[in-house]
Amino acid sequence: MINRRKFIMTSVFSSAAVAVNKNFFAKPAVIGVKNKPIVISTWDTGLEANKAAWKILSAGGRALDAVESGVMVTEASQNCCVGLGANPDRDGFVTLDASIMDENFNCGSVAFLERIKHPISVARRVMEKTPHVMLVGIGAQEFAVAEGFPLEPQKLSPEAQKAYNEWLKKSEYKPPPINIENTGNQGHGPFAPTRYDDGTWNHDTIGMVAMDAHGNLSGSCTTSGAGFKMRGRVGDSPIIGAGLYVDNEVGACTSTGQGEDVIRVAGSHSVVECMRQGLSPEEACKKIIERIVKIKGEKAKEIQVAFLALSNTGEVGAFAIHKGFSYALRDNGNEKMVNAKSFD
Ligand code: ASP
Repeated sequence: MINRRKFIMTSVFSSAAVAVNKNFFAKPAVIGVKNKPIVISTWDTGLEANKAAWKILSAGGRALDAVESGVMVTEASQNCCVGLGANPDRDGFVTLDASIMDENFNCGSVAFLERIKHPISVARRVMEKTPHVMLVGIGAQEFAVAEGFPLEPQKLSPEAQKAYNEWLKKSEYKPPPINIENTGNQGHGPFAPTRYDDGTWNHDTIGMVAMDAHGNLSGSCTTSGAGFKMRGRVGDSPIIGAGLYVDNEVGACTSTGQGEDVIRVAGSHSVVECMRQGLSPEEACKKIIERIVKIKGEKAKEIQVAFLALSNTGEVGAFAIHKGFSYALRDNGNEKMVNAKSFD
């Protein structure tokens, strides 16, 4: 079956693919960005992820490789909301979403993917080895296995099992408030936030964008989505233009928070378009947060959304609906957490 699919894909698409000059759309990187390379990523899990990305960036490597390696650290760690250790859906299965995009508008994503440890790497294979952008569910899993990714056991991590058992007591399906504050109400709010033994909180999606030493941008985004979600629910993270967008001529953006509300405004793409109109990354993130707040009205109180952006001139900015969103930054001179500004 896989072979037949491969054959069809090759015969139908390969001639079209070779006809397009890969670099046709590539725009020259901005010269003179002093603080490059730069990598930024969502939440405090971003600090460790940035370290892995920095190894590649500081050695002159490509932003694309950096954003893949960076978020793989979070995917492999015990985390309530990223990777196979994360909280399951309401039927008890962990389902993962991820996307990746490079400086040439190449992009790939997977959604509703089960039993694969590194969905971000499968997203990259979709980008590089198929003529498609997105594969979902069993098809994404079959593709991953055909590409040599091991099928991991269908088993919850002890932390996720505990959280799921707690959730089952009420089995209450209440869509979020999610990750509002750094005080225990994050980790998908009523969907059992996870607290480490040292008292720090485990956060949500990891979105990462980076500029390499050549001035080129790339981004990645990976998540298990909302904990105890409806089976089959897909959020913003694997949707190119919602959870992630990169335009080398302008900038890159990623998001975290209530995916449904990011999707309805094509969030990350909208932020990049505002940057194209001349807004700084922070102003652009703020503009789209304001749009979401306007759409949601009173209900904006109940949700968190945050955008994190990097311009092609090396400027970084973020904005959230509520306070409590922070991001990790590493550049030529800094390694730190930054608290984003917010609407309230
Ligand atoms: N944006 C993710 C989703 O809706 C979740 C999150 O970032 O908290 O799937």
